Order: sequence, then C-alpha cells, then structure tokens
Amino acid sequence: MVNRMPVVFIGHGSPENALVNNEFNANWKLFGKQIPKPKAILCISAHWETFNTKVNSKLKPELIYDFYGFQKELYQLKYPCNGSLELANEIKNLFKNKTINLDLHRGLDHGCWAVLIKMFPKGDIPILQLSLDTNISFKNHFEIGKQLTKLRDAGILIIGSGNIVHNLSLFNPDKSYKWAIDFDKYLKENLMKLNFENLINIERNINFNLAHPSNEHYLPLLYIIGASNNETPQFFNEKVISSLSMTCIIFSNTKLKFN
Ligand code: ZN
Repeated sequence: MVNRMPVVFIGHGSPENALVNNEFNANWKLFGKQIPKPKAILCISAHWETFNTKVNSKLKPELIYDFYGFQKELYQLKYPCNGSLELANEIKNLFKNKTINLDLHRGLDHGCWAVLIKMFPKGDIPILQLSLDTNISFKNHFEIGKQLTKLRDAGILIIGSGNIVHNLSLFNPDKSYKWAIDFDKYLKENLMKLNFENLINIERNINFNLAHPSNEHYLPLLYIIGASNNETPQFFNEKVISSLSMTCIIFSNTKLKFN
C-alpha cells in the first residue's frame, strides 16, 4: 500500500467554528490527530477567487478576517504559521499547460485558517493556498485537482474548504428544506459510486441553483475528487442545517474514526 496522504473536503460553515468548541470542529481535531503529520498543507478555499490560478507564497501568512458582524474575539484570534516559497514553486511547476502565478502578499482566509486552527492547533506545518480561477469550467477545476494528486505522495495534505450545500440568504435554523437534504444526498450517492461526471456536470441538477446561488463553496469539492485516487470516500459531520450542509468527505486508504 502506498503511504499516501488523504485528501479531505471540509464543510467549514460559520467563522465562529474557529472560536467555540462544537461537534463539527471536534471531528476536525480528530482528523488532524489520526493522520500522519503532513509536511505541508495546501488549502483550496471558497474564499479566495482570482483571475487565473494563484498560489500564495508568503513566508509568514497573516490571517485575513474576511467576515463581518461577528464578536470581537474572532478578530483577535492568532494562528502564527509559515508558508513555503519552495513548495509554492513546486506546485507552480506541476502545471505544464497552465500558468499558476505566485502571490507574495496574500495571507490566509477564514475558509482556511478557521479550520486549521482547530485541526492543527500547534501551527507548526507550512500552509499554502491555491485560489479559485473564476474564469474556468467545472471540468477545468477538476483537472487542476488531478494535477495535485502527486503532492499526496510527498506528504502534503490537500484540503478543500467550502460547503456542499450553501445558501445563506435562505438560512433559518428553524426551517429545513427538502431540496437541501436531497442535494446533499445526491452528492453523497455519486461520491460513493465515484461517479465524478455527475459532480462535474452538477449544474444539470435541478437543485443546484438553490444549493449554490454562487459556485465558490462547491468548487473546492472538484479539486478533492480530482486529487482522489479510487479510494472509497468516508463521510463525517453529516448534518444539513437548514440551507447549509456541514458534510465532510475524506478519500484515504485508511478508515478514520469520528464522533
Ligand atoms: Zn464560507
């Protein structure tokens, strides 16, 4: 068996998950404890969209507090960690037919740090982010994920951070939506069958526009299935709250334990 890093999609939900302790981040912590220590982490977050694909290469990436109206403690959280210019260049060089630009100034957005602060609280693993190019097709996002697969054999953990159902304008904790439950279920069924064509062509699904009024929280999933390698997916945090799904998806050779 190849000693290959898992790939994981995290449903990140509210930035408050960085501050409080709850059932969701308890499982993020468990994930961090059960896998071999990564040499580095590459995060593809819903919250970094660019023209062309970029990889950040800041040596000390600061936290970006890219959310509004939350309690002040959340804006005071610190997570000192390092980047890696060497790895940023390695990632850039993985792509022969696509230009990846280095971004020397960008820090980490909350889709990345609000998860990692819980998953790897020591902050002793270099962290990089890859942006979402807003001008390419779903198939192209998947293909970039495929190119990243080989990083797994070099001990690099690839994390996609979004939510597989994400419609905040309809969010109401007292209300559940059948379309949200159906969409979450449809994705899981297709993931189990490794039917990635349906996930790449997801815009054909009748519930897609309700589940994703904009695409950015869905797209990180395409990188994760692209970087998977015929492993059977494992799910955790399988909870649809109103119009938000917290479902997380792992592709790994090893089955992990969760609450
Ligand atoms: Zn988000």
